Amino acid sequence: MPGRILIIDDIATNRIVLKVKLASAQYQVLQADSGQAGLTLAADMQPDLILMKLALSDIGGIEVCRLLKSLPRTAQIPIIMLSDDAGPKAKTQALTAGADDVLSKPLDELTLLARIRNLLRAHATTEELHLREGTRRALGFAEDIAPFAMAGRIALVARSRATASHWKATLQHLVEDRIDVADRDIVMSYHDRSGAPDLFVIDTDLDSPSDGLRLLSKLRSRAATRHAGIVMVSAGDEGGRTAVALDLGANDVVSFGFDAEEIALRLRAQMRRKQQADRLRSTLRDGLQMAVTDPLTGLYNRRYALPHLARVHERAAETGRPFAVMLLDLDRFKRVNDTYGHAAGDAVLAEVASRLGADLRSLDLVARIGGEEFLIVLPDTTHHEARQTAERLRRAIHDTPFVLPQNSGELALSISIGVAMNAGDATHDTGIDALIARADRALYDAKAEGRNQVTFSLSAA
Ligand code: GH3
Ligand code: MG
Ligand code: MG
Repeated sequence: MPGRILIIDDIATNRIVLKVKLASAQYQVLQADSGQAGLTLAADMQPDLILMKLALSDIGGIEVCRLLKSLPRTAQIPIIMLSDDAGPKAKTQALTAGADDVLSKPLDELTLLARIRNLLRAHATTEELHLREGTRRALGFAEDIAPFAMAGRIALVARSRATASHWKATLQHLVEDRIDVADRDIVMSYHDRSGAPDLFVIDTDLDSPSDGLRLLSKLRSRAATRHAGIVMVSAGDEGGRTAVALDLGANDVVSFGFDAEEIALRLRAQMRRKQQADRLRSTLRDGLQMAVTDPLTGLYNRRYALPHLARVHERAAETGRPFAVMLLDLDRFKRVNDTYGHAAGDAVLAEVASRLGADLRSLDLVARIGGEEFLIVLPDTTHHEARQTAERLRRAIHDTPFVLPQNSGELALSISIGVAMNAGDATHDTGIDALIARADRALYDAKAEGRNQVTFSLSAA
């Protein structure tokens, strides 16, 4: 998952050093040599992440951070502040201003890259939720999302009771949340999301060094705690443990002798992120489901798909990234109904839907827009990726026969796919209706050329 990173630093050599590191990790790099230039570039280019020096000479980094976080166009972009001397005061100032992280120099490259991957991943999830939220609004289900966190629940898991009690005493008067000292086994006993804490603070060293990391992976793998915020407390960075923890899904890592005020700010930020994401997930689940899903397959219907496509299109125009639209139609499906009956046809359709859904990323959209016709939207996708995905979907239908209900045998089925690309390039943009029309023509060609194939629309918009 490469991304676009904006560096804001007024010293050219700093920018060059960072740029080399980032470019070798396949990131696209933008550079600004002042706070002012950074603000403009961030709003215009919509980077996925910002790396900013704390002490900028024109507008201070803290102020730039505050501005970025207060403007609607840039508020969601994660910010890492870099400081020559990130003492507790500089850190808390930066975190209060909304920075997602503060790192001090010299930068450990492994940790920096892991922090970046971690924040980009979190950012992609938020983006996806906001995209879906925008579609919900377009459908008239508007509801404001509170910007502040309510008091939640935090569980502490430390190497000893004494350490946990010490942490609890330190944090208690700085946060409004309920804090419980948990035992590492109790942690595995949460069975559903409503019973589980919002955040976990976990000692990296429990019974043995680094076994807190094992607990972290377990929590991430279980449905009840998958979306919880997890902050690791680490005594040191031997063997790149910070980077490992972040890659295993920790939301943050703090050092063992933590500054209480700093960790309170970090917990606050994690609580806010977690609760916003929960709220978005649940309103989406409840409010939308009935109106915009198709009862047979559980997929979105046309009513949802078209405004969603409009949002993806808008986003692409902003970011300049391409996206793909596919229309899929089952081949000779009428025969299935004629031979096996309509009920068997329905069962096959539900299985087709589940195979399509299983093969896509969470930000892709699959909708059933007609009897046996589907629309798929792939945001942030190149021509090459779209071709690979379409081929994979074609094979997912064709390579495995469908088992018919009531032991009435198996059935081979195929699907034809028409694909049209939007290059994310305003000068060639023809709009959504034309895009769908091109995908439809490509689908028609796939049928005409013998079915069970993927055809791309030729016109190069
Ligand atoms: P092709 O697309 O390859 O040209 O042939 P086809 O036989 O699939 O033709 P077409 O797409 O025109 O026909 C769609 C058929 O799908 C018509 C109908 O029998 C069947 N169908 C449409 N909706 C449903 C549904 O909800 N349930 C069932 N069981 N069948 C459906
Ligand atoms: Mg059809
Ligand atoms: Mg058909």
